[in-house]
Amino acid sequence: MNFLEERILKDGVVKEGNVLKVDSFLNHQMDIDLINEMGKEWKRRFADKNINKILTIEASGIGIACIAAQHFGVPVVFAKKAKSINIDGEVYIAEVKSFTHKKVNQVILSKRFLSSADHVLLIDDFLANGDALQGLISICNEAGATVEGIGIAIEKGFQIGGTVIRNFGYDLESLAIVEGMNHETGEVFFREQK
Ligand code: 5GP
Repeated sequence: MNFLEERILKDGVVKEGNVLKVDSFLNHQMDIDLINEMGKEWKRRFADKNINKILTIEASGIGIACIAAQHFGVPVVFAKKAKSINIDGEVYIAEVKSFTHKKVNQVILSKRFLSSADHVLLIDDFLANGDALQGLISICNEAGATVEGIGIAIEKGFQIGGTVIRNFGYDLESLAIVEGMNHETGEVFFREQK
């Protein structure tokens, strides 16, 4: 079992509706030493990739991406949730269904910060159905940027996202893959990883 799986067992809380709460260490209060270890591990797993930018999505991906970026020595850019429709040609736009809030957000990224010259690592806290990642991938496609890899903290392996993204051929590295959870007992089961 790796350090993130151990921490999930210690401090994660299983909620009804297949939601795993990790807000005491990952996406509300943040354990920087833990997230730093995650950054180090992604750097190890993507050591052979030529990455010049990390791309994530507002809000909980940002802190994780920033700490990871220190291991890659590259800038972070994040897709912003748009408050109003803003189709002025200066931004890339993608529609992203929110798993936790059950609504569709438009996310935008200024064209100044992503282009065909970029080799991108996508980072996010969770992968569930893959909507957030597909939004980021579609922005990269529109920009002509290359997605070199995808680093996820916690993948919910019983939801479709991981399969869809891997079937597209992306190099997806999830540090913990949850195969199942039981909100009555609080148990969490992980997929065995290399
Ligand atoms: P997806 O777009 O892959 O369906 O969901 C990914 C997004 O939904 C993540 O950015 C994360 O914020 C949120 N999310 C999905 N499942 C969970 C969960 O079990 N717990 C928490 N805290 N967030 C989740």
